[in-house]
Amino acid sequence: MKVMIVSRILKTMRPVPVLVSMAFSCIGLAQPSRTPVEWQKLRRTEIAEAAQAGAVVIVPMGAIEQHGPHLPVNTDINTSTEIALRAAQAATAVRVLVAPPIWWGLSPYHMVYPGTLTLELETLTSLVVDVCKSLAAHGFKKILLLNGHGGNENFINTISIKLSQLEIFILPISYWNLIPEEIKQLAEDDGGRIIDHAGDIETSISLYLQPERVDRSYIRPGIGTPLTQSMRPPWRYTVPRLKKETSEGIYGLTAKANMAKGEKVVNAAATQLLSVLQEYAKSE
Ligand SMILES: [Zn+2]
Repeated sequence: MKVMIVSRILKTMRPVPVLVSMAFSCIGLAQPSRTPVEWQKLRRTEIAEAAQAGAVVIVPMGAIEQHGPHLPVNTDINTSTEIALRAAQAATAVRVLVAPPIWWGLSPYHMVYPGTLTLELETLTSLVVDVCKSLAAHGFKKILLLNGHGGNENFINTISIKLSQLEIFILPISYWNLIPEEIKQLAEDDGGRIIDHAGDIETSISLYLQPERVDRSYIRPGIGTPLTQSMRPPWRYTVPRLKKETSEGIYGLTAKANMAKGEKVVNAAATQLLSVLQEYAKSE
């Protein structure tokens, strides 16, 4: 069966004008009541009906790991889950469910700071395979792994090869790969590099999604490390050495982070994800 069809889908997707949920909130209307998209809130009859309707299931992935002194440790999983929920709630032509998030990822190098909970590669493999096997057993044939943690990026591509043996479709996507142009434009201090770690873009996202959990005293010049200085050479894999490569465990700079930028990133990613979901649902 198909595996890693993301590049084809990303190439063919068309922009979606506006998310339904945003349209309602913009004009001040309550959204029409509808069945929740979160798997854990559904009754078994609703889940069976969604499977029958050919629903796509998004499995949010991320990490619980230190994000500098100013952001909560849930930053990565919170972002991927929020993007997944927004796209799923806006989907009308296609049914989309969001599985319970897989909170933990591969973050051994973040253990040098407090708060990180990391899994062994084997544990995460078993966890993701078991969840996807369960989804497949209930009749869901199209699964989208939506990742929010850079350290999981190779993992989601590799695990898709294993999961494809279940005779289902697997689509692995890290959310920043949905919107490379937007991130390039918005990441002023990060030299247009794709996603930082607790720098400009991630700080902006948290300011938008969970402002009460951001310590704004760290949003100022001099906090963080320019990505141009801290990125490792692309031609070899080395374990990130945070205390050597960064100031305060931050890849990127915080000074220009703001809520409006975070809102743009989240909404652009959700809009593109909706477009991908529509293509994915049609693919055979
Ligand atoms: Zn992060």
